[in-house]
Amino acid sequence: MESTPVDVTNISPEEFQNFLNSFDHVFSDCDGVVWRFRALPRVGEFFDLMKRHGKTVHFASNNSMRSQENYEAKFKDAKIENGFQHLITPSVAIAEYLKTANYNKKKKIYAVSCEQTIKVLESYGYSCKKGPDVGYENFEDHIEYLQDDPEIGAVVVDNDLNANLAKIQRAVTYLKKPDVLFLGGATDRYVYHKQGCSALDCGIFTEIIAAESHRDPIILGKPGKLYAESAMRKEGVTDASRVLFIGDLIDQDVGLGKAAGFKTLMVLSSISKEEMLAHKIRPDYYADSLASIVPFL
Ligand SMILES: [Mg+2]
Repeated sequence: MESTPVDVTNISPEEFQNFLNSFDHVFSDCDGVVWRFRALPRVGEFFDLMKRHGKTVHFASNNSMRSQENYEAKFKDAKIENGFQHLITPSVAIAEYLKTANYNKKKKIYAVSCEQTIKVLESYGYSCKKGPDVGYENFEDHIEYLQDDPEIGAVVVDNDLNANLAKIQRAVTYLKKPDVLFLGGATDRYVYHKQGCSALDCGIFTEIIAAESHRDPIILGKPGKLYAESAMRKEGVTDASRVLFIGDLIDQDVGLGKAAGFKTLMVLSSISKEEMLAHKIRPDYYADSLASIVPFL
């Protein structure tokens, strides 16, 4: 059993100082930590105070769906300067992975993903195939999606709210060839709207495609270790043991921290304290929110 997480708002001043001294870099999730629809209270102050304590500040979201303009507006609303410049999303980690792997740009990528992920891939010079946006109505139409496409060299699955049976079938068909890369972004099975209130999320499509193709995707979103390494490389951070990762989800955020060797702090905006303690993976630290930590900084 992992050790009991420490409530950083309920420890002695010396223990709080030891906590602060245990990291140099802060990587924070966004949805549920920095904002939920609107900015959460005192988040700008929290990150300003972290910088004043000499910490570098970075952001790592599993949400590839927002445009740059949307992210910039969210960070502005949260009173966080240069947030977008220090942000990584799975779309960027996927594009960087393809670049590092010298992916052949003549080969197309079949994207079961949001439009923004396709835009990021195209900005790196990759061409994507997508769709159909509307699935078929008759089983006779299956045949089309059982046809291989020799131009496809990779299948990318990331945050597609409009996935359908035809897209899933296409991905499975292309993945029959072992040399076709299978890359996954966000893995989230659930999206939270408030503590204890969740809905199904797009990670379930990645799971279906993986099961039906008998392939394991290379995960370039949280909690994949490669995503953490990509985030650190982008931000010039080299020592994982000096990173504090802040998140609101156990599987994605705490899981990423465990995979990468980060220290982890969980805010209880989505998961209750009881659920956190019942889970086999546990964060090192927790607090109700970033605002609850501000008076101690
Ligand atoms: Mg979150």
